[in-house]
Amino acid sequence: MKKVVSVCLTLALALGLTACGDKKESTDLVIIGAGGAGMTAAIEAHNQGAKVVLLEKMPFVGGNTARAEGGLNAAGTEYQKAANIEDNATLFFEDTMKGGKNLNNPEMVKTLTEQAKDSIVFLKENGAPLSEVGRAGGASVDRIHRPEGGEAAGNFMVVALKKRIDELKIDLRMNTSATEILKNDKGEVTGVKAKNKEGKEYTIDAKKVMIATGGFGSNFDMIKEFDAKLADFKTTNAPGALGEGIQMSEKIGANLVDMEHIQIHPTTIPGQGILITEGVRGDGAILVNEEGKRFTNELLTRDVVSQNILAQPGKHAYLIFNDELVKKNHATEAYFKQKLVKEADTIADLASQIKVDAASLEQTIKSYNGFIANKKDDAFGRDSLKLSLEKGKYYAIEITPGIHHTMGGIVTNTKAQVLDKEGNVIPNLFAAGEVTGGVHGANRLGGNALADITTFGRIGAAEAVKELKK
Ligand code: ADP
Repeated sequence: MKKVVSVCLTLALALGLTACGDKKESTDLVIIGAGGAGMTAAIEAHNQGAKVVLLEKMPFVGGNTARAEGGLNAAGTEYQKAANIEDNATLFFEDTMKGGKNLNNPEMVKTLTEQAKDSIVFLKENGAPLSEVGRAGGASVDRIHRPEGGEAAGNFMVVALKKRIDELKIDLRMNTSATEILKNDKGEVTGVKAKNKEGKEYTIDAKKVMIATGGFGSNFDMIKEFDAKLADFKTTNAPGALGEGIQMSEKIGANLVDMEHIQIHPTTIPGQGILITEGVRGDGAILVNEEGKRFTNELLTRDVVSQNILAQPGKHAYLIFNDELVKKNHATEAYFKQKLVKEADTIADLASQIKVDAASLEQTIKSYNGFIANKKDDAFGRDSLKLSLEKGKYYAIEITPGIHHTMGGIVTNTKAQVLDKEGNVIPNLFAAGEVTGGVHGANRLGGNALADITTFGRIGAAEAVKELKK
């Protein structure tokens, strides 16, 4: 036995192998996490000439991105122009800062709001055109871009990006976790340790490393640590959203910001954490409480709508909409398949199914239809009044707020370089996507996650390649 090991070691040394049978690995760029940020960065870096290894710990790609229903905010796109929507980066900046309670890093928001339109171009070029523009909470104009027919945007993007990764033959390693980011004694990042499905650990030497591991919305120890009052909430997050990138980067001195800001999404299914996209409200659904009454402008920011729901009896509410909305918003098809929707020909029948007073619900819908006719919501000041609920069929979905997005994370600069606690760049280390903090401040606007991950994924990849070429 001893002899076999020593032969192996001699061979390994002679052939430049790290252990018997293992090839010593080296590459230009290791990207950790194949969600939206990681796949975008991998495609961009590959196309600019870098040798990329993309690690994904789960047996599937997509992470939380695949669960993102709404869309991608961008200002000044060809699709907005075609629909005669006046928008610009300044307005987008103002909305984002206001939505984030001005806690956002303005430089990061400036970069995001100026360059998100290029992400729309990137996605179109890579098989994911987001050609339909709609309204999302906290946006002062129609700015959220999604696939034609209102299909859920995140999964649409993930399918297209994965297809492109395969076409480009990018080295994507599934069931492979990064466990450690390696640094030399000069403080420069030099690679990662990875663990495959069989539990075997190996080292990849890399000139550049990008962390794109997503947030920590499924890690309840971290949720409790940073916002104890959310401990009993359900989460809409993918099982892989455990904050590992945050923990790995912290170990090598990265700075973190805004960790206590955890977003709850107003409309999730009680007890299940399944998400009902904001687009349902954006396209015209209203919210009523157990008494059959509206209680909020449905299009306020997520934090405010969530608080308004939690203030209602039973801490829940019902989304009410009709056939006209279903025809327009294809994301709703999944809710029917999942049997989340009550349906009825009349308002009274719908009311009885959700155990709400029929006269009260009829009155609420009648006065809402009046607001639509007068183009003014006298009750709550909703300004996007697109759909009259005059005609059935009528539908209701019971909802309650659930954990959705972690705004905090690794501090990065506008080149997606990771910063340490003194504000210095950690050489060779980049981060993009939900793993970072600072872009969204105290509250992320719907549509800004997909904008963030694709924009900073591209920027980080381009910067890494630029440094490689130096
Ligand atoms: P983003 O929206 O920022 O792209 P996602 O949640 O969509 O984030 O994707 C993050 C991906 O990273 C997920 O697919 C997740 O499984 C993967 N991931 C998380 N931690 C690790 C890790 N330690 N090693 C490899 N992949 C990881």
